[in-house]
Amino acid sequence: EAKRQGKNRFDFFTETMQVRSIDRLQLEMDLHQAIYEHSGLVLHYQPQISYDGTIIGVEALVRWNHPTKGLLFPDAFIPLAEETGLIIPLGDWVILTACRQNMQWQKSGYPPVRISVNLSVKQFQNPHLLQNIQSILQKTDLPPHLLELEITETVAIRNAELTLSLLNSLRSIGVRLALDDFGVGYSSFMYLKSFPIDILKIDKSFIRDITLNQESQAIIQAILQVAKSLRFKVVAEGVETSEQLASLKKLDCPIMQGYLFSRPIPADKMDTFLKNENQWT
Ligand code: C2E
Ligand code: MG
Ligand code: MG
Ligand code: MG
Repeated sequence: EAKRQGKNRFDFFTETMQVRSIDRLQLEMDLHQAIYEHSGLVLHYQPQISYDGTIIGVEALVRWNHPTKGLLFPDAFIPLAEETGLIIPLGDWVILTACRQNMQWQKSGYPPVRISVNLSVKQFQNPHLLQNIQSILQKTDLPPHLLELEITETVAIRNAELTLSLLNSLRSIGVRLALDDFGVGYSSFMYLKSFPIDILKIDKSFIRDITLNQESQAIIQAILQVAKSLRFKVVAEGVETSEQLASLKKLDCPIMQGYLFSRPIPADKMDTFLKNENQWT
């Protein structure tokens, strides 16, 4: 009896695993097609607002308009792209598209903004990254200081020596570097000392709790103080309410990003933000 149950259980598992891997394979093929046929991938943009209410940057966030599943968010396909290596061509497309879009905004006469792009560990390990970025900057004519690359500490931890020299090279061509999701995982002030970073993005979990508990507020305050003396800029991520905004202002947080200002939106909806026609102060 036990044996039979065991066998059934085995069958059950292999069946679901098979279904899952067929789904996965299909999604991988769809993603491959989207990347190489330039169909369905889009960038949405979320403004970063400075304490005085003006826009200073825009984060590019990838979405995938899947032919049957509808609009997919990064969580649904970035891990797959990372596992399959598709993140390299996908990432190059993201950087190129973001730079091109920013150059278009510059040419339209909007005040200059930085465009920030997220890099995954795999992209960072790609030996052609520096070269790819240089050629994208050349191709699009975007001034390098208007491109910002967001990395997480995972990148920094995985390969400390390589990371350091790559970060230095990127910085030497004028690109800005941001440490994303700071405060979660292995976040450490040590990285701030050793890595040539320009901007720190405080993880949204702290912002969510800022009005709820003293601890989160204390952590944000500490990050802001260290950043000030080490001359990093700080962005608070995930600002959703005016109470959170008020708390952040009280702490002198210089830059904010979140649903309170705008969700990530398509490029053609960015007009009022880029013209600074919104009033937040
Ligand atoms: P992230 O870089 O930390 O991006 C911020 C995420 O928080 C975005 O989710 C954004 O839509 C969301 N967000 C912004 N404001 C708020 C808010 O006020 N409240 C809440 N609850 N969420 C807010 P999204 O677009 O789903 O992206 C998730 C993650 O996927 C990103 O986290 C980033 O790590 C990754 N990702 C996005 N685009 C790319 C890309 O082009 N390449 C790579 N490698 N990763 C990407
Ligand atoms: Mg980011
Ligand atoms: Mg983040
Ligand atoms: Mg992230």
